[in-house]
Amino acid sequence: MKIQAVKTHLLEIPFHDGGKGEGIGPTTWKQLDLLLVEVHDEQGNVGWGEGFGYFVTRSTRGIVDRLIAPTLVGETVVDVPAWNRMAQRRLHLFGRYGVTLFAISAVDIALWDLAAKRAGVPLSHLLARGGVRPSAPFYASLVRYADPALVARIARDALDDGFTSLKLHEIAMPELDAVRSAVGPDVPISVDVNANWSFEETEAFLPTLERLPTWWLEEPIFPPEDGTRLARLRGRGVPIAAGENWSTSVQFEEMVRLGAVDVLQPSVTKVGGISEFLAIADLAEAHGLPLLPHSPYFGPGFFASLHLAAALDQVRELEWLYVQPEAWIAPIARSQRQPWHVDVPTTPGIGFEPDPVVMERYRVE
Ligand SMILES: [Mg+2]
Repeated sequence: MKIQAVKTHLLEIPFHDGGKGEGIGPTTWKQLDLLLVEVHDEQGNVGWGEGFGYFVTRSTRGIVDRLIAPTLVGETVVDVPAWNRMAQRRLHLFGRYGVTLFAISAVDIALWDLAAKRAGVPLSHLLARGGVRPSAPFYASLVRYADPALVARIARDALDDGFTSLKLHEIAMPELDAVRSAVGPDVPISVDVNANWSFEETEAFLPTLERLPTWWLEEPIFPPEDGTRLARLRGRGVPIAAGENWSTSVQFEEMVRLGAVDVLQPSVTKVGGISEFLAIADLAEAHGLPLLPHSPYFGPGFFASLHLAAALDQVRELEWLYVQPEAWIAPIARSQRQPWHVDVPTTPGIGFEPDPVVMERYRVE
């Protein structure tokens, strides 16, 4: 496919989470920052992609606009993973993790969307190695509230909405105990620490987490790529998960070699896009490791994750960021299936069609 144009769009959509905007980032977190990438081919097809958001979308856009788009426009892309590897090679001196790879991820997703549209099939059909699931299951991922009564109430709300499993971003035991008391003993609860604990603190918390019980413990220690120490936390009553801050299949391979985790968590808008995600799925299959992808997205990153879950047996569940956006950039169809599922779009590509009114209303420069 010959690429005729690459465009980028920034959107900021406020959301409500029922809390104080505690978040996990450097400042108060109250809005979804979206970087959308639009790639056009010579036949008028349009592919959509998304680079990881939060507070860095302007930096990621700079990489797409200045370093990727000028080399892509006019090129013919036949093999998206081969294009991805060439882009990584060209840009490696700007970093093998962070905005460079977020930018490559965004364009990679758009190129896959375009390839599936040109083939006239949903992306899941293009990627499938066996059957395709019509819908994918989700767990509710709550933001950090740092308030036992509040997080217990929001956890109840999520169950009332139809979710049957939860992930908490709380890092203190009173909050975790409060949720367990509120939801009862049978609801699976995973705990995402976002690398806030030391190795020694994690060791000290493990018996309590085992008793909670904890479905999986995510990114307990800093730095999150310290695979040697992560490996020493395994086999102690709580499955260890990480991967949203690892980049490319090369780093995942190294982590698997170290025996770092029980569960791999690639994030399609960070890890190098669909091409790298597929290589990680092969690795997961070869080593018998499940995938629980990082997917707190609402745009093309969400739709790409949905198709990957539909196509790949290794994906167990996806992450639903349990906040209420002021507007939806694209409709997401909750399935009638229980527990909480989302239908995988059956239109060609990833099925992301942005709402033009929302695009204009929340667009920023
Ligand atoms: Mg996480």
